[in-house]
Amino acid sequence: MAPALAAPERVDAMNEMRRTMPANSGPALTEPDVIIIGAGISGLYQLYRLRELGYGVQVFETGSDLGGTWYWNRYPGARFDSESYTYGYSFSDELLQEWSWSEHFAPQPETLRYLQHVADRFDLRRHIQFNSRVVSAHFNEASQRWTVTLDTGAQHNCRFLITALGPLSADTLPRIPGVESFSGQSFHTYRWPHEPVSFAGKRVAVIGTGATGVQVIQTIASEVGSLTVFQRTPNWCAPLHNRPITEEEQSQIKGNYPALFALLRTTPGCYIHNADPRSVFEVTPEEREAFWEQRYAEPGFGIWQANYRDILTDPKANALISDFIARKIRQRVKDPAVAEKLIPKNHGFGTRRVPLETRYFEAYNRENVRLVDINETPIERITPKGIKTSDAEYEFDMIIYATGFDAITGAFDRIEFRGIGGQLLKDKWADGPKTYLGLQSAGFPNMLTIVGPHNASTRCNIPRCIEQNVEWVTDLMRHVRDNGINRFEATDAAEAEWSHHIETLAEGMLYAQIDSWATGINRNVEGRDQRRILQYQGGAPAYREKCDAVAAQGYAGMKLS
Ligand code: NAP
Repeated sequence: MAPALAAPERVDAMNEMRRTMPANSGPALTEPDVIIIGAGISGLYQLYRLRELGYGVQVFETGSDLGGTWYWNRYPGARFDSESYTYGYSFSDELLQEWSWSEHFAPQPETLRYLQHVADRFDLRRHIQFNSRVVSAHFNEASQRWTVTLDTGAQHNCRFLITALGPLSADTLPRIPGVESFSGQSFHTYRWPHEPVSFAGKRVAVIGTGATGVQVIQTIASEVGSLTVFQRTPNWCAPLHNRPITEEEQSQIKGNYPALFALLRTTPGCYIHNADPRSVFEVTPEEREAFWEQRYAEPGFGIWQANYRDILTDPKANALISDFIARKIRQRVKDPAVAEKLIPKNHGFGTRRVPLETRYFEAYNRENVRLVDINETPIERITPKGIKTSDAEYEFDMIIYATGFDAITGAFDRIEFRGIGGQLLKDKWADGPKTYLGLQSAGFPNMLTIVGPHNASTRCNIPRCIEQNVEWVTDLMRHVRDNGINRFEATDAAEAEWSHHIETLAEGMLYAQIDSWATGINRNVEGRDQRRILQYQGGAPAYREKCDAVAAQGYAGMKLS
């Protein structure tokens, strides 16, 4: 069989062509081997790896610069909930040694600078065309190529298509009448302006109290004239305990990376936190109270990820930890009526993603902050002047929509992916995604979905799982190159088996019984009112083992030709 990849001369010619282009611009390749959609953490790393293999790679990115999540989410207070030093790429020792994180949980501008540094250091920009939104990608049976169309109408053909869309990149405004009519400033947190936004003296509304809303509220409360939070569902938040990294800690971190990354490979979410093997009921009430006090006083996700093993599966165990956190909220919020509103009643602790906070609850003790429970007094409409609820009309200078995303599959729905026979991916996934390993979907040959649905990465300290996804894809692409393979795709049987496996792993998990983005609920989007299993729940180590076993068996479950 003829080698499937472009001849080395062609690769050299393409590389030469790029070398002569100004960085960050220039005509995109019309016939690259691979097109990657998205220049966030995953797209950048996939580009780096495939270029190493000699593939001609073209990345298209909607934004005017790289960074994905960290490019878009510039809202006040945006920062990591993962320890900074667990978040960076692990593939380059030099990079690890030269980059110094300033805080244990770095803020968004620093993370964006880090990704820009990575792109510059490894000379990645010249393969990326910015301001280029992909609107469709169609597989052509006759030519065995994907045709990718941009919003400009430009078309590019490629043999392999890799989506690096991000799980939380399809932002959604609330379905409330009058959103367009507001005459003041209004922003979705994901679309935050690049220019500074002044809050001084302004009457500001925030709608939404997920991890994003919590960060915004706690950050701007002291800057605004007045802040009114419109809350539909309170979330179980826990303290972040962020602080600067000292020089001594910095040298410990830099001297310890191999051991750190080895540890992260063993925990279910690739955090430094690992579940305690004991049940809540194996310890005395005094012991567990002391244990929870300790966890609550520690930085990061320990209270969620390093808790007793049954808090996320046994409703009785979950009720005990929920009660502990509720008591903390009552201690921290001065007005008992406000405290009760801030305590979730319809889901237990940890069954939705836990927002980590810094004096979030204390924000509600301020004179200039007011909480409106929209279950009691629903929002009726947005007006030119502000927000009208069933019992009052509020006037604002600014409305901030921290209303979340059409998560995990939403970004796929916004691009017209058509596979064999013109099948639309959106239609195929209408009742929930169907995938193999969360990396492919049958009927869509030569297409790989890093950080896609049914993948472990969306329940993970994401760069760690991104690296796993990308390295698996890179091994596959090496196999394709070395064996002259023109086409690969998941079999229907392997896809059915994997999709069933995903469903069974979620059985017995409390999160699966709760409405949240992780179960695919977003009532701002037509048809997103039924829970779907979107994530691999077996933990990152088990997921990696499954993927590795498939590769070791010569890509079992896939047709390669
Ligand atoms: P989210 O968790 O989905 O929260 C959206 C919020 O908007 C919810 O409070 C929701 O209420 C509310 N909302 C939506 N539509 C509404 C409507 N029509 N009327 C009133 N309220 C409405 O979204 P997010 O806060 O952007 O967070 C998404 C995920 O991003 C997080 O879970 C996390 O994984 C990630 N994130 C990470 C960080 C970090 O690492 N530090 C920071 C921010 C976000 P309901 O709950 O009632 O639907």
